[in-house]
Amino acid sequence: MGGTFDPIHLGHLVTAEQALFDLRLDEVVFLPAGAPWQKSRAVTSPGHRYLMTALATAGNPSFTVSRLEVETPGPTYTVDTLRRVRAALPDDELFFITGADAILNILTWKDAEECLALASFIAASRPGHDVGDLAAAGLMDRVTVLDVPALAISSSDVRQRFAAGRPVRYLIPREVEEYARKHGLYNAAHHGLVAGSLP
Ligand code: NAP
Repeated sequence: MGGTFDPIHLGHLVTAEQALFDLRLDEVVFLPAGAPWQKSRAVTSPGHRYLMTALATAGNPSFTVSRLEVETPGPTYTVDTLRRVRAALPDDELFFITGADAILNILTWKDAEECLALASFIAASRPGHDVGDLAAAGLMDRVTVLDVPALAISSSDVRQRFAAGRPVRYLIPREVEEYARKHGLYNAAHHGLVAGSLP
């Protein structure tokens, strides 16, 4: 499951659990992106995002978190990750789960065709998301859409809530809230823009 996870929220966790059940997966591996190169905003340091993802998933025996992308220097390319996972697990069936909006742009990703060949892509969709966009992009028959009502929660809303001093309880795991507060990740001073080094 790929994402920036800045921060991870209950919508991501519900998506993973739903994919695990619907697709009868053996496990879901969370892959916080090291350097999401297509983002126009600054992103919280990979170490913080990795640790928040680990805290959020620790209680679920079917969830693990990979350091693969956060430890790989340079821009994060999903194709590189899928090549490495495929080489390590030649006989396994691989799925790449991420947000439908991210998958809409897949044709702009590095080696998009190879990505689509290396794994089955699962597009997690927010309520009201128009899957017609995926159809218009010619992707409807190449990805599977997973409707997840809990994806009404978004990382950007959580960041804004932190910055504005509004509650985030029940939107993100308690441990993630405590971690983010302890490290001042999303306070008004830097609006979630953390230039600091790895913890
Ligand atoms: P994004 O553009 O920040 O996210 C687009 C939408 O999808 C947002 O609404 C986001 O919600 C949602 N989303 C993201 N990850 C999700 C997940 N795991 N489950 C459910 N919803 C999710 O996307 P991103 O985080 O930068 O990238 C998503 C994945 O695509 C990452 O693994 C990234 O490495 C990959 N990607 C690869 C390339 C490439 O060139 N290879 C380019 C772009 C992205 P939230 O903000 O609430 O998460």
